[in-house]
Amino acid sequence: MSTRPRSPLRADIAVLPGDGIGPEVMAAAIAVLERVSSADLQLTFHEAAMGGHAIDEFGDPLPESTLKTCEQVDAILLGAVGGPKWSDPSAPLRPEQGLLALRQKFDLFANLRPVKAYPSLSAQAPLRSDLLTGVDILFVRELTGGIYFGERHEQETGDSAYDTMFYREAEVLRAAHIAFQAARGRRNLLTSIDKANVLAVSRLWRRSVEKLHDEFRDVQLEHLLVDAAAMHLLTRPADFDVILAGNLFGDILSDEASVLAGSLGMLPSASLSADGYGMYEPVHGSAPDIAGRGIANPTGMILSAAMLLRHSLGCETEAAAIENAVDGVLEAGARTADIALGASPISTQEFTEAVIEQLA
Ligand code: NAD
Repeated sequence: MSTRPRSPLRADIAVLPGDGIGPEVMAAAIAVLERVSSADLQLTFHEAAMGGHAIDEFGDPLPESTLKTCEQVDAILLGAVGGPKWSDPSAPLRPEQGLLALRQKFDLFANLRPVKAYPSLSAQAPLRSDLLTGVDILFVRELTGGIYFGERHEQETGDSAYDTMFYREAEVLRAAHIAFQAARGRRNLLTSIDKANVLAVSRLWRRSVEKLHDEFRDVQLEHLLVDAAAMHLLTRPADFDVILAGNLFGDILSDEASVLAGSLGMLPSASLSADGYGMYEPVHGSAPDIAGRGIANPTGMILSAAMLLRHSLGCETEAAAIENAVDGVLEAGARTADIALGASPISTQEFTEAVIEQLA
């Protein structure tokens, strides 16, 4: 994670609004980033096409010009891509190819997903509110290796098929390093997920994490089998601090945990490379069912912008100010439709204005 390089800081950010509600929530994040900009923090935004509309316009989900923009900036802010128009899985060009290409191009190997249960929203979540008290988890998912990506083999013949899950020690170590460091800035507890009782690749995972633990003795390390973790996430979610997992297990567990926050619209994410370059996006998709109506919850996108300030620009003060402002407006009862539960909902723009007002 980078520290603030110089003052005043000038940073360039690629803005890829994408499809569906992407442009709506992106407008919210930019407005909030503009509010925290100052003479000491000068942000320049470079908008570029990505996803379904880029296929329509350029015949490419990640046009060359967009890739060039991304190469020249300090970080990428992404809305969401996809929609029914581009959802044929056998189509040669699909919106998510752009996402995968960016991950690969910039070696974005660590996916960070904070999941927080807001007391004011506990009625939204499917778990009892007493179980949600104090839930504040950071998932660190290895993103460019394992069974989905990187060095993998697959075969599908008539009545059999296989995929391989492959990790090198170095791949585990660099993801684990980010997780240990993150735990240091939080509650000093790291839970590493594997299936070491069955899988050789998980035994390598566990050995590698243990090895790195020697450098982070101040962090308490526990190993949990993925099946047990799936259960414990719902029976004792508040006990977890940082959870480290490989690509497959991290994918499944972080989606499971997303229900703890009450709405998909609440959750941010960061995908980081070794040098602090990163891509920041909300966890949700393009929500075509509500696109164009101005009712999307911009929280996940706004909090992704806060993560960008923290992880790529080293601007902890501004990042924390945005997170506190979001907490503040939720406490004060501001609710978009997805979290309204009977209260009268406000629009994306009104919610954003409330955050900006709170920042003031
Ligand atoms: P989705 O996340 O878009 O929507 C799921 C449900 O959550 C919908 O009912 C939607 O209205 C609601 N929702 C999501 N975000 C919200 C927000 N900010 N405020 C209020 N409600 C919100 O998932 P989906 O419907 O499975 O996928 C729709 C499209 O998005 C698909 O084309 C899918 O491939 C794509 N997708 C893209 C990404 C990405 O860009 N990273 C991630 C997931 C899905």
